[in-house]
This record gives sequence, structure tokens and C-alpha cells, in this order.
Amino acid sequence: MRKFLILLSIIFYTLSLTYAQSQPYVLLVSFDGFRWDYLNRGLTPNLNRLAQNGVKALSLKPVFPSKTFPNHISIITGMYAENHGIIANHFENPFTGEVYKVARNSKSVLESKWYLGEAFWTTARRNGIVTASYFWPGSELEIEYRRPNYFQHYEHNRPYKTRIDGVMDWLQLPYKKRPHFITLYFHETDSYGHGYGPNSPEVNNAIKLLDSLTGYLTTRLQEIGMRDSVNIIFVSDHGMTGISPGKTINIENILKGFQYKMGGEKPFVMIEPENEKDLDLIYNVLKKHENHYTVYKKKDLPEYFHYSKHPFISSIIVIADLGWSLVNNKWLERFKRNKSKGNHGYPNYEMDMHGIFIANGPAFKKSLRTGTIQNIDIYPLLCKIFNIEPRSNIDGKLERIGFILK
Ligand code: AMP
Ligand code: ZN
Ligand code: ZN
Repeated sequence: MRKFLILLSIIFYTLSLTYAQSQPYVLLVSFDGFRWDYLNRGLTPNLNRLAQNGVKALSLKPVFPSKTFPNHISIITGMYAENHGIIANHFENPFTGEVYKVARNSKSVLESKWYLGEAFWTTARRNGIVTASYFWPGSELEIEYRRPNYFQHYEHNRPYKTRIDGVMDWLQLPYKKRPHFITLYFHETDSYGHGYGPNSPEVNNAIKLLDSLTGYLTTRLQEIGMRDSVNIIFVSDHGMTGISPGKTINIENILKGFQYKMGGEKPFVMIEPENEKDLDLIYNVLKKHENHYTVYKKKDLPEYFHYSKHPFISSIIVIADLGWSLVNNKWLERFKRNKSKGNHGYPNYEMDMHGIFIANGPAFKKSLRTGTIQNIDIYPLLCKIFNIEPRSNIDGKLERIGFILK
């Protein structure tokens, strides 16, 4: 009997080892604010080489609003913001007054209750796949099973090479502990895009730096003998467009005398009248002054925004034209002081808001150029690569993206 049990455990161990070895590897890399056309500036030899030997989409279409947290969460859950719940980088639960806010040391980004979708790492873990994240919005939730197996608390200034080296350490763990799905994040192009605008020399330097880090990443993979086995997907959450204090609309001036709450960010704002009976009045005033922006009642927001289901979205939504900023007096002062020259958050049909999509590795076709891909389709793509069932309530569709796989 003992011999039989030993034999059984050897068979089981061998089988589980074979399964672990046969699982694919996927490294999902995000370059924050890397606009789709930055690849056409002649500054990215490493990224272009990977694109040539793999798949490159014309652009990656973000969800509305084209902001960092809503889009990283859409990529990792396959859902529109109205369904995954992270409707902006900063918003309020109007029923309790609690606030979700992306900021240094923010507690709210760790609170599971805001996140209504299932992240790919949770789907993967349920299927026996070990996962890891060297930064990704929503990867640090306080509930253990909603995080990757290994994760890092976000540290904006952590050196980029340290992040890549951390990923290499994970890839060299013993088989049973080794993650097969890993995320990696770099903020460089977003920060310089805001500070100096998308056409600045500073952004060009950021692009060059990210490309050289791509070279470092592939060299390190080569060194550990995994270059041919790891699928790498490069994405960005959104693009960037030029802005200036001369192109502002002061909502506070337009709505003088009304009582309301204003949330959101400069490219779009959410307005909630203090008194429900003022809704039509406020809407009509905004409609009368409609110039370089469009005002909608939440219930009439065009379907293509996919931004009206969530209960925390306000009754009135104002969306600025590309390059224009909606402000109140406080925001305008800050804008003039920090001289910000770029922004995003505009409608996702604007090409300036689109990011990149490059995929390279054993799972992907070679030398394939495709049109625009939607970022909500990445979650079902990942499920297909790992041969696991996606959640049934997602917005993404494998039918729109599956053709890029071998
Ligand atoms: P934004 O340009 O406002 O949409 O947001 C970009 C900023 O989000 C970056 O500069 C980072 O500082 C911040 N950020 C990115 N990832 C995280 C994260 N996982 N946790 C906290 N903040 C983050
Ligand atoms: Zn971003
Ligand atoms: Zn940004």
C-alpha cells in the first residue's frame, strides 16, 4: 500500500510539473500615456523590432474616460468603466460621501469595494496559474485572492531597471512558485506629456528611455534563457494631447448662483445639482453656453461612451472638445501655476487618446499589422492564451481580437 501511495504521488508530481511547464508565459507591460503615433518618430528601434516580428495594431482604443485607472482596470477586467466601477481617477460615492482617489499613499485604491470587475490575475489564480505584478492599478487590494500572488505596493520613483530585475527574479523562481502572468508599469511618457506636451523634446527623451528599457528587458530575458518562451504584450492606457490655459471654459462662471457639486477632471466634468429640481435649469444654462464642449444628461449620453450605468456617475456630464479644459476658479489658478501642457481624458474616438498595442512571442502571429484594437478585448485574449474560461459578464470579445493568435 505504501509503495502504491509513493508511486501515486510521483505520478501526481510529474503531472503537475508537466502542466506547469506547459503553461504559457505572458508579460503585460504598460507605458502610461504612450500615444499610438510615438512609434512613428524613429525613436523606438527595439519596440519596432518586436512589432516587426510579432503583432502591431494601428492603435489601442481606450475606454471613456481616457484616464489611467479606468483604463488599466478595463485592460485587466475586460469591462467598460461603467461596469468595473472605477469611473475616474477621482470620484465620490454620492450615497455615503466616501471618496475614491488616486494619490500618493491613498487608502481608497486598496479598497476592494470600489472594484466591481474580476481582474485577470484572479481568474488565472482560480485556474491554478501563479501571477505577479510589478505595479498595476488595482493590484494591491486588501483582499488576498483579488491580488496577484506576488505584488508590489506602488512607488512612483522606484528605478525602472529595478522593476525589470524584479520581474527577472520572479521568472527564475522554482517551477511551482514561478508566475506565468506578470504585469509591469512605467509612468515616463505620461509624466513628461503632462509637463511639456506630446510634441516636446522631453517626451521624445521619455520615448527613447522606454525603448532602451525594452532593449534591457529583452536582453535580460535572453540571459535567463526565456526570450523565446515569454509572450510580451506592450500596451498604453491612453494617449495625450496639447492643452493651454488660453483654451479653458470656466464652469463656475457659467453656473453662478446655482448649488451643485462638480467632480471629474479637466477634459470632462460631472455635475450633480444639490437640488434635483435644478437639473433642467442647470442643464439648459450649460446648453445655452455650449461652446468648445458638449453637455449631456446622464440618461441621454450616447451609447458609444458606455458611461451611464454606474450609480456614482452624476446626472450631468460635460465633455470638452479636444485640447480644451473645463475648470472652476481653483483649478484655473492651479493650471496657470503648474503650466501643464498636455492632458487626456477626452472621448475615446479621438485618435490623440489612443495608445499602443504590440505583441510578440510564441502565441502570436509574426509580422501582422492590424487596425485599431479595443483595450477591453485584452482580458478575453489573455484567457484564450492560457486556455481558461473568461467571466461571462465582460464587455470584451475574443471574436474581435483572436485573429492575432497563431
Ligand atoms: P493620470 O495621468 O492622472 O491619469 O495618472 C497617472 C499617474 O497615476 C502616474 O503618474 C502615477 O503616479 C499614478 N499611478 C499609476 N499607477 C499607480 C498605482 N498602481 N498606484 C497609485 N498611483 C499610480
Ligand atoms: Zn495614464
Ligand atoms: Zn496622465
